[in-house]
Amino acid sequence: MDNGALAVLESWQIRPVLMTAAALACIVYIRGFLKLRRQMAARFPTWRLAAFIGGQATLIVAVASPLDAFSSLLLQVHMIQHLMLMLIAPPLILMGAPAIPMLRGLPASFAQQSLGPFLKWPALRRFWNWLVHPVTAFVAFSVATWTWHIPAPYQFALRSPGWHQVEHICFFVSALLFWFPVVQPWPAKSVWPRWAMVPYLLLADVQNMFLSVVLTFSERLIYPIYGAVPRLDGISAINDQVAAGAIMWVPGSMFFLVPAIGIAASMLSPNLVGWNAAPVRISKVAERSAPRDFLRIPAIGAIVRSLYFRRIVQTIVLIVAAAVIIDGFRGPGASPLNLAGVLPWIYWRGLLVIGLMAVGNLFCFACPFTLARDLVRRVVRVDLAWPRRLRTKWVAIALLGLFFCAYEVFGLWDSPRMTASLIAGYFAAAIAIDVLFSGATFCKYLCPIGQFQFIQSAISPLEVRARKASICASCTTHDCLRGNESSRGCELELFMPRKAGNLDCTLCLDCVRACPHDNIGLFGVAPGADLIGDPVRSSIGRMSRRPDIVALAMIVVFGGFAGAAAMVAPVADWETWLGRVIGIDAPRLTVVAFFALTLTVIPIAFYMLAAAVDRIVTRRVTPGVANRDNWREISRRFAYALIPLGFAMWTAHLMFHLLTGLDSIGGVLSRVPFVEGSGWQPSFSWSAGSASLLNLELLILDVGLLLTLYVAWRIARTIAGRLRAAAALVAPWAAIAIVLYLTGVWTMVQPMPMRGTMNMMPGMPMPMPVKMSMSTSTVMTTVVRPVSMMEGR
Ligand code: SF4
Ligand code: SF4
Repeated sequence: MDNGALAVLESWQIRPVLMTAAALACIVYIRGFLKLRRQMAARFPTWRLAAFIGGQATLIVAVASPLDAFSSLLLQVHMIQHLMLMLIAPPLILMGAPAIPMLRGLPASFAQQSLGPFLKWPALRRFWNWLVHPVTAFVAFSVATWTWHIPAPYQFALRSPGWHQVEHICFFVSALLFWFPVVQPWPAKSVWPRWAMVPYLLLADVQNMFLSVVLTFSERLIYPIYGAVPRLDGISAINDQVAAGAIMWVPGSMFFLVPAIGIAASMLSPNLVGWNAAPVRISKVAERSAPRDFLRIPAIGAIVRSLYFRRIVQTIVLIVAAAVIIDGFRGPGASPLNLAGVLPWIYWRGLLVIGLMAVGNLFCFACPFTLARDLVRRVVRVDLAWPRRLRTKWVAIALLGLFFCAYEVFGLWDSPRMTASLIAGYFAAAIAIDVLFSGATFCKYLCPIGQFQFIQSAISPLEVRARKASICASCTTHDCLRGNESSRGCELELFMPRKAGNLDCTLCLDCVRACPHDNIGLFGVAPGADLIGDPVRSSIGRMSRRPDIVALAMIVVFGGFAGAAAMVAPVADWETWLGRVIGIDAPRLTVVAFFALTLTVIPIAFYMLAAAVDRIVTRRVTPGVANRDNWREISRRFAYALIPLGFAMWTAHLMFHLLTGLDSIGGVLSRVPFVEGSGWQPSFSWSAGSASLLNLELLILDVGLLLTLYVAWRIARTIAGRLRAAAALVAPWAAIAIVLYLTGVWTMVQPMPMRGTMNMMPGMPMPMPVKMSMSTSTVMTTVVRPVSMMEGR
């Protein structure tokens, strides 16, 4: 045995007190567990026993294994030790629901006569309830985390074995408290509604990411003590710190995000039962989790479904669009001073993704193009039928790809006139198509914005659907589709009894107003749940048999990553390099090459590779797969699972622009005479620091990745009966998701040189390479004043 292995083995420590306590706890627990299992087998399945013993074992490995010995030499090892103490051992122990088994495992006389009166003491109960209240627990967890990560106490604990143990006890005990409301070990009762655990966990993750970002990106040693100890394997102290930050960041985040998503999914899906749920009858679960119909909310429901409300919203948006077009053509050419440079590219896009996330396809609900076309249709309409061969998404896909590319090639964000032309052209096209053709041809087959919304709304939390299938079954008029004198029917040709999901639904609510039986509602759904099944959908068919919709989903997903990457310095450098290599001095051509690569070549290559793996898996490796000959359909179903990740990338990117540019309207307002004279400057941009903004972006991307993996796994389980078959099917798609995720993370930490970024300005120190949009102060100093001087104002 070599010296290294020997040193590792010898650094195992015998900690008599800890090991005896852990052994005793296990014996008492197992004794009580076996007694309880005889009485309530459903409440105490074997996994509870495994979780409790696993938690004890994790605790011992954390403090008695070589991890402890090496923690004073390598920060990354110390970080792993802390993760085990805070994020693995405590939830595992609590999942064993240890309170009652421990009591039952003790000698009965001792439990009843000695512990009984003490446990019934009201003051103790009140203290305990206060201790495990989510607020107390969160505060204790945060205080322990932050206090012990301050350099002075952290290094002090490393120098003093006694204080090091105190540090670990603080971490472990505060983590037990933190996880208590999340796990809710039986027979604990929750004091907060279950959904509140989602923000509780996300908040903890934000704090975890904040610390990890500091460690990962700091250019100096946060804990100088590690610079003074012998270096192992040539790992420099700073690289060690970066690795520790990455460990805290990625695996650390997963321990918060996975339960958060699990809780959200179990809240929204009646059939999913969490680890802490009592074994109740499924009918009760379904009853408790019956999705809420938002159109039934008094007053609000009536307002939302009324046509007047929609028309008012559409009119407001139409007026804003007209203002953008007019200012785009007649206003100043400097983008930050023009409505056409600010409203569409900073506010509208950010609000679009927030609307999708919070409600659904809100833009189509408020669409000004359909209002304009409805007005024109009152005067003239031809009502031709859209050619059958064009009733697919292919034309819209081409238009969407062109738009993504044109945005960068022509710098639309920086050209108010081109932006105004684009919007005016959009109005003209929507009106011309829908005057010539019947129904909502433009929305369904052509509108790139609509297709973007349709795909993204697959993970929106609301869905229009029939309230009772039995009423539809006895309905003979089908007014939701055909319309009647009170409202037109669904122009998108979605027949309510067979409508599934949000694809092609503009949230116009025409069907709601048309249904004579008031049988249509707006229901809560689990984001992404619609992607798991593959029902026959009205007017769409099975999504697994629609290659055009798969291509649309892929271009939306990859477009999210390509659009963000196109703005960062290394990609700009690559485009310059490409221009030099192929010997052309035409930057626009290299941008086109970048988009051709990222929107067509790479997605097609990824898709074909994954489909090839699925083909092999379905035909040769795993006989447990249903419909083995339909490997193409299987691959298409998995491709849809990438939508949550793509949506997350779009959201992170567009929210970044929205938050950093919240006050960018200041440039436009500065042109209003009384604002200019008042000296007022709006100042409500993101002020919480670039690190927290980066954290927010990463958090969104993390959630997207987890949701994609979850959806892909559920799809795999519905296709493959056996675990091994499911894992083999899902593997290539999980790999694609992880590659995309890492691309997104890489993009987010790159400098962005193309948009007047603050970190590229001389004398502007930034703690890390992070991109910033133009805020008002930047606009005022870099644009307004020079332009005013040029114009002699
Ligand atoms: S939604 Fe209304 S109109 Fe449509 S089929 Fe059902 S009951 Fe009939
Ligand atoms: S189903 Fe049709 S009519 Fe109903 S909200 Fe969706 S698009 Fe509008």
